[in-house]
Amino acid sequence: MSTDPAIDTELLDTPADPAQGDYAAGAMVQIGQVPKAVAKDDRVELMGMSMEDLRTFAVDVLEEKPFRGKQLFKWIYGKLETDFDVMTDMSKPVRAKLKAIAKISRLAPAEVHRSTDGTIKFLWELRDGLKVESVLIPEVKRLTLCISSQVGCAMGCDFCVTAKGGFTRNLDKSEILGQIVQAQTYAADERRISNIVLMGMGEPLLNLDNVIESMETAQESDGLGLSHRKITLSTIGLIPQLEELGKRSRINLAVSLHGTTNENRSAIMPINDKYDIEQLVAALKRFPLPTRKMITIEYILLRDINDDVADAHRLAKLLRGMKAKVNLIPYNDNPFTEYRRPRDKDILAYQETLMSYGIHTVTRLNRGGDIAAACGQLGGYKQQHPRKRTKGASAPPEETA
Ligand code: SAH
Repeated sequence: MSTDPAIDTELLDTPADPAQGDYAAGAMVQIGQVPKAVAKDDRVELMGMSMEDLRTFAVDVLEEKPFRGKQLFKWIYGKLETDFDVMTDMSKPVRAKLKAIAKISRLAPAEVHRSTDGTIKFLWELRDGLKVESVLIPEVKRLTLCISSQVGCAMGCDFCVTAKGGFTRNLDKSEILGQIVQAQTYAADERRISNIVLMGMGEPLLNLDNVIESMETAQESDGLGLSHRKITLSTIGLIPQLEELGKRSRINLAVSLHGTTNENRSAIMPINDKYDIEQLVAALKRFPLPTRKMITIEYILLRDINDDVADAHRLAKLLRGMKAKVNLIPYNDNPFTEYRRPRDKDILAYQETLMSYGIHTVTRLNRGGDIAAACGQLGGYKQQHPRKRTKGASAPPEETA
């Protein structure tokens, strides 16, 4: 095994094994979700509002001064407080009025699973009964939250579990920011979430306004205080929306390439028929990168499909002239597809080939594999193994809130 620090030996030693019952741990079925009817509630939802929205609300609806908006912003995103009664820097009559006309919703955790490696996977139940997931990943120097942007996904990538259930709806800003606010309350030792990755369920560029506006709000120093350098959006690579993102936001970009020829990429990612590799690479080379930033190219390694060294040489050529680093993601096996994780020797050979071109390459650590929280495992776990029916295989979740 290589001693290169960029190669994660822990990952290579511990492949996720769906046969071990990872998918039996959850009790929820998410594939093909149907929303339920929601009771009418006329109160204004403050969760998800920006500083400007809250100032406008304070003046136009609450009939107070704009600074009340800033106070509310600090309570919601800074102190993570949603109970108006606790907000004692506002007078009792103001609080009473707030309670009558507004609400600050929290996401309800339907399930919380803790991995042996410290990773926590949340299954949130939204107000219409639909469910999405987030994954909190503690590391020595950072606390990363992987969030969802949509219920389901319309992109139809053949290897992806989320894609199997199709698309149901976009998340709104209260649900996008709500994942951060609510996950933060579970962080050990009151550590603050330092990094956000939009790599959960959905295609974030198809919910562009809500995603960009939520990430702007997340950067406010009076609230969550996240740096744009610590927020990364992962996309399949929709060219017009990529261009809009480049103009409107400074957050980091990660792109799911996963193939080095159009034939290969189209076979696993239908979007490639619309925007092919050459068009995508050209768009990435045009993408406005603030100084020192790089695009992350995500490349899933699928056994015997795109894991040959010839693919690595082609990838290196595609990336010539692009400010990019590569994140290799050995496929996380799951019971919903026939794709398989590559052999360890092929992962190493692929990585070494890329590095021989001087390309910064990291193989992504498989975190939370024992609770089906690793990349591509979100959104499909079922009580029963779909291919191999096992009686009584569903263990209770480790923690259910
Ligand atoms: N729609 C966005 C973000 C969601 S997927 C995108 O396409 O980038 C986040 C990453 O996980 C993508 O690179 C996706 O291709 C990858 N992924 C999906 N299924 C996977 C699996 N089973 N194993 C490893 N990575 C997977």
